[in-house]
Amino acid sequence: MNTASLQGVGMTSPRTRERLIQRLRQQGIRNEQVLDVMRHTPRHIFLDEALAHRAYEDCALPIGYEQTLSQPYIVARMTELLLEGGALDKVLEIGTGSGYQTAVLAQLVPRVFTIERIRPLQEKARRRLAAMSLRNVQFRYADGNLGWPGEAPFDAIISTAAPASIPAAFYEQLKMGGRVVTPVGERQQELQVVTRTENGLQVNSVEPVRFVPLKSGVC
Ligand code: SAH
Repeated sequence: MNTASLQGVGMTSPRTRERLIQRLRQQGIRNEQVLDVMRHTPRHIFLDEALAHRAYEDCALPIGYEQTLSQPYIVARMTELLLEGGALDKVLEIGTGSGYQTAVLAQLVPRVFTIERIRPLQEKARRRLAAMSLRNVQFRYADGNLGWPGEAPFDAIISTAAPASIPAAFYEQLKMGGRVVTPVGERQQELQVVTRTENGLQVNSVEPVRFVPLKSGVC
């Protein structure tokens, strides 16, 4: 057996993935549905070959174009926070990146709409989701600051890139009672859950985080 196939065995071994799930539990992730989806989602296919052997470590990893696939703990935490708002039908994701967070969402929510501003990343993500036979995702190549007006309103919006402050379009495209889960800030960032209520926006700060910035325009 050559090294590549040995690595392949390690990556797909239930034990390797179970270790990650146990670590997520230790870090406080409680949503069994989220843990189960992450246990079965092959994170290694969302990375370039040279990094695939590190896929089940709990760390952020580069995906090219100065972007990163978030640490599994953060993916789990953000997904858990998104689902805490109640049953979701339609979710908007800003920052498709590798497509890993998209794939996790697509197994928990009936309809996922995802926006990316770097075309080659979007194309790779599209192929990976097709390889997993996930067909409930629509992709858009655009500036996520504007949301996706033609598909609004959404039950929830998740951004995996950090705006300095939350774009107005996110609130405008959110259903009453819906929530935005996003990192906010520049050098100092925090993960926020903002709920749209009849009395205005209710902001909850969850924990300090470090994300790539939400940029303007497409490239
Ligand atoms: N969720 C991704 C994380 C990718 S990093 C994953 O699981 O891999 C954040 C992503 O947001 C990058 O791909 C970056 O290109 C994208 N991004 C940054 N600003 C954006 C914007 N204004 N509109 C759309 N995508 C944006």
